[in-house]
Amino acid sequence: MTFDTVLMVDWSGGNDRGVTPKKDAIWACAARAGATDAPAYFRNRKEAEVWITAFLRTECAAGRRVLAGFDFAFGYPAGFGKTLTGTDDPFAIWDWFANRVEDSPKANNRFDLAGQINALFPGTGPFWGNGLKRDIPHLPRKGLARTDHGMTEKRQAETHAKGAFPVWQLSGAGAVGSQVIMGLPMLARLRHAFGPDIAVWPFEPLTPPIAIVEIWPSLIARAVTETMPDGQIKDAHQVQLLAQTLSRMPASDMTHMLDVPPTNEGWILGLGHEDMLAQAALSPTAPPPLRNDCFAMPQGAYWTPVDEAQKHLRDKLACVTATQTVALQHAAGRFLAQDVSAFRSHPPAPNAAVDGYGFAGPAPTGIARLKLVAGRSAAGAPYGGTVPPGHAIRILTGANLPTGVDTVVLQEDVSASDTEVSFHGPLKRGANARAAGEDMQAGQPILQAGRRITPADLGMLAAAGIGAVTVRKTLKVGVLSTGDELREPGTAATQGQIYDANRPMLGALVARWGYDVIDLGRAPDNRATLRNILDDATRKCDVILSSGGASAGDEDHMSALLEGTGSFALWRIAMKPGRPLALGLWNDTPIFGLPGNPVAAMVCALVFAAPSLRVMAGGAWTQPTGYQLPAAFSKSKKAGRREYLRARVEDGHVTIFPSEGSGRVSGLSWATGLVEMADPAQKVAPGDLVTFIPFNGFYE
Ligand code: AMP
Ligand code: MG
Repeated sequence: MTFDTVLMVDWSGGNDRGVTPKKDAIWACAARAGATDAPAYFRNRKEAEVWITAFLRTECAAGRRVLAGFDFAFGYPAGFGKTLTGTDDPFAIWDWFANRVEDSPKANNRFDLAGQINALFPGTGPFWGNGLKRDIPHLPRKGLARTDHGMTEKRQAETHAKGAFPVWQLSGAGAVGSQVIMGLPMLARLRHAFGPDIAVWPFEPLTPPIAIVEIWPSLIARAVTETMPDGQIKDAHQVQLLAQTLSRMPASDMTHMLDVPPTNEGWILGLGHEDMLAQAALSPTAPPPLRNDCFAMPQGAYWTPVDEAQKHLRDKLACVTATQTVALQHAAGRFLAQDVSAFRSHPPAPNAAVDGYGFAGPAPTGIARLKLVAGRSAAGAPYGGTVPPGHAIRILTGANLPTGVDTVVLQEDVSASDTEVSFHGPLKRGANARAAGEDMQAGQPILQAGRRITPADLGMLAAAGIGAVTVRKTLKVGVLSTGDELREPGTAATQGQIYDANRPMLGALVARWGYDVIDLGRAPDNRATLRNILDDATRKCDVILSSGGASAGDEDHMSALLEGTGSFALWRIAMKPGRPLALGLWNDTPIFGLPGNPVAAMVCALVFAAPSLRVMAGGAWTQPTGYQLPAAFSKSKKAGRREYLRARVEDGHVTIFPSEGSGRVSGLSWATGLVEMADPAQKVAPGDLVTFIPFNGFYE
């Protein structure tokens, strides 16, 4: 069984909770095909009911099948309904409550009703937990005060649901009894409002377009905790995760979960399938680790061309980050984990593109005179009536076109009195009007997985009714320097020591690329210490950029350690600047061992690490964006290697740094980008076009 839309609702039995979103209030979240909207907060039941009803109407009208879940019991232990209503029909209980529950946002009569129900049963109970100051006849404050009421404590479902509360308890932490009493009237009204279009599980066959099911978010409690974004309200996250999980569940699994024996007590969706649910809630979010041989370079040519090295990384690397759903305001710069389709059309309804007067077009050549109808249509305050032929209505930019209107004449082009407007035709039908969906149609794909979300994307997503998107978690990049000679900037250093220039530089580069930087400090040239640092780092990082110690010398401990993992590769790349690039996996975490020289470290980071990190973060491999500009320098270069020159643009010409020495870090600071010189031999004279790549061009 499949559903187009899943709506999950976390109900509440309490009173109005105010405007600011809070926990233990009502939360709802919709999802389609694994893409969810932002969780919606409702301060009280009345607001929630209006919204849910409107939501279901929209889905029904669009021909979409809906699974709507509510987190309270749909029935009571066997025999309760018979005593209360005279029948075993569970819906008789729903209607009984719907007819008697009084619910104003600030107060309700649930405790009194529970007392009245108890009076119908022998002994004391079954309801308990009077939460009010005043005593209520027949409603004990304590559960232990109950005797001989004849009801079982739990429904069959609760005997299987570890930790679920019985429906009889009306107050106290975790109690659900009040939610049931305050929820069933809403469901009863939905049932009556939607008639044959709605069915309630497991009481009825789920053939109509809307299926109402009982849910219990605690079934995925572990997944909720593990995927909870910082600062999110748990209730909000759990409806979202559940909606997402159920909406991408294979049809066969859904059918399997819905297949339960007949019962009048109700049942919890997913009960007995907790492992499957938990896995579905977690598993697609964590990609498998990279293969141990992902950096293995076929032996052959001694120096590997840059293009070949890049192609290898592009082919062998994959995304390493789990998915997470975030609200739009946190989505800029993140990589989409799945395709996104418009939730609603944009514009949602035909509307006016200018301030003016709306009428049924076209207007023929000559003077048009139209009678004005009383009232107007403004943005957010549409006109509810119909505009008859021969009439016009005052309309403002962004206002919906009323029935009878398809064309708008600009206010500057009319002479208007209180009762009439006139203007010179012709005017085409549809002039100055925007058609519904002319920008985006509901259901139309608008962004693809792998897209890095831009500010403009946020505008488009919001307009298309998307409140939240499933993205990749931000890549965590460790930055490590190695070498006994290194000292921390700002501390004392002897003549034999140098300051660690790479770590601040690479850390800032990674931050600019949009990833989380994890400072791994400096490692001495000592194998045991480096091993400990790497062990600790791989627990905190998705990938590590280290510099120094990457060659095959006596003190190149990074190479030596990675050698022992079976995943090590030392790439000799035909490139200047650049010494070997050491690559390997430590505890499944990829390490880019960059050269120690700051210039080579930075250039290798731009040329190899930037596109690789993008792939690991969930994006696509991108070639840098360069520009052909005339050179202001001359240079002749040998065949057989790629060269990158520190460069900047002055007066439209590319200037290079006078020294090519790879220790000259001042040249990096001077430069705003690199000139890329292709592998064959080349002579550049002033005025010749060269490829200039701004530093930003390496990651955008
Ligand atoms: P290595 O690759 O460890 O042999 O280092 C090559 C050169 O880069 C040596 O001159 C190192 O002192 C220098 N170097 C290594 N790491 C850094 C660093 N973090 N900051 C500045 N220079 C470095
Ligand atoms: Mg070293």
